[in-house]
Amino acid sequence: MLQQTQVSRVIGYYTRFLERFPTVETLAVTKWEDFLPYYAGLGYYARGRNMLRTAHEIVQEHGGVFSRTVAELERLPGIGPYTARAIASFAYGAPELAWDTNLRRVIGRFFLGGKGTVTPTVEARFASVLGRHAAELNAALMDFGASLCTARPKCAACSLRKACRYFREGGRGEQKAIVRPGNVSAMAHAEQTAVILHENHTHYFSSRARSYAPFLLPGRLTRAAIKEHFSTLYGLVLAVRPPHGTIRIRGRAAMLVHAQILLGTPSFPVFPKSAVLRYTGANKRR
Ligand code: SF4
Repeated sequence: MLQQTQVSRVIGYYTRFLERFPTVETLAVTKWEDFLPYYAGLGYYARGRNMLRTAHEIVQEHGGVFSRTVAELERLPGIGPYTARAIASFAYGAPELAWDTNLRRVIGRFFLGGKGTVTPTVEARFASVLGRHAAELNAALMDFGASLCTARPKCAACSLRKACRYFREGGRGEQKAIVRPGNVSAMAHAEQTAVILHENHTHYFSSRARSYAPFLLPGRLTRAAIKEHFSTLYGLVLAVRPPHGTIRIRGRAAMLVHAQILLGTPSFPVFPKSAVLRYTGANKRR
C-alpha cells in the first residue's frame, strides 16, 4: 500500500484491511469484488490486483510462507527492487537500503549537491555501513526525505546543513522545474473532457466502432462527475486519474483524462494502446 502513497493516507486503509484480511490465506481466497471496498480510493488499482495475485501465489506456491530474500521477493507480482528491499529490511532485518526517489534525492543532495545521479559507488558506500541497522536507516532517511529534505528542502531547520554540499552550493546543482505556462492555460481553457477509458492499460475502449476515439463529455468535468457519468449511463465503476494534458478535438481544446474500469462489464469496441497513441498524437499536432 505504501508504494507511491504516504503513510498518513494509507494508515486507515491498512487498519481496516488487516481486520478484514488478517492472514495471507484469507486474502488469497478473496475475489476482486470483495477486496475492492477495502481498497477503493487508495489509487493504483494495478497494485491492488497484484496484492491479490501475490497472496494467491504465496499460498499456492510457497506454502503460505512469505518470501524473505530480495531475489525471491522480486519474483512476486508488483514487487520491484525498491519494495523488495524495503520488505527485506523492515520485515526481516536484511542489510538492504530501499533506494527510491526520496532517498536518492536526499543522498544526491548531501553528497553530490543535487547534480548527477547516485552512482553504484555511493550505493556501495552505504551498503558497507548498514550492518544490523538497515531498517532504522531506511526509516530515518524516508522520514527525513518526507519532512525536511523535501522537494523544497527546509535547510534552515536541518542539522546536517554544514556538511551538506547542496546547502554549501546554494542548491545551484538542482535544476529548477520547468513550468510551461502554455500547458496550464490550455488546461484552464479546455471546454470539453476527453476520457481515455481502459482496463489495466491492456484494453482501451472506444466511443466509436471503426477507429479509436475517446469519450467526449461537455465541459471541464471533475473526477467525481466523470465517475458519476459512467456509473449512471453504463453501470461502470471507475478510478479516474487527474487530467494530464490537452488535445484538440473538432477545433476545441479538450482536457485529457485516463480512467480505469474497476467493476462492471463494458460493451464498447476495444482497441490496442497504439491506436490511442495515434489518436492523441494526431490531435495534438492540429
Ligand atoms: S541541508 Fe537541506 S538539502 Fe542538505 S540534507 Fe538538509 S534539508 Fe537536505
